[in-house]
Amino acid sequence: MESCLFCKIARGELPAQLIHEDNEVVAFQDIHPQAPVHLLICPKKHIPTLNDAAPEDNPLISHMFVVARKLAKDKGIDQKGYRTVFNVNEGAGQTIYHLHLHVLGGRVLSWP
Ligand code: 5GP
Ligand code: ZN
Repeated sequence: MESCLFCKIARGELPAQLIHEDNEVVAFQDIHPQAPVHLLICPKKHIPTLNDAAPEDNPLISHMFVVARKLAKDKGIDQKGYRTVFNVNEGAGQTIYHLHLHVLGGRVLSWP
């Protein structure tokens, strides 16, 4: 996707504070953090929402959670607690239509 913001970050065409990169995903700091730790994990593949993920994307989605767990540990929030979130579509507050997993922590999180 030529014009997609997160595709551009994944391709290195836009600056972001990358904290992880592998063949499948990039992870970087959210530009408007909602918690002391607020990371986004994005597949390099353009998938607009979780609804659009195909069965063959299941290993990729699983990998996103493995990366979330690792980054939470690296950031020292794994024991106190953190949250992983996919916002899906407008009613859930999705604003960027390129799949991304939020990792939030470093403070007590209210629900929802
Ligand atoms: P959504 O609302 O779609 O679930 O999450 C999109 C997230 O992307 C928001 O938390 C927003 O702050 C973040 N965001 C939007 N534009 C940029 C950007 O250019 N760079 C980074 N690092 N984060 C962004
Ligand atoms: Zn994209």
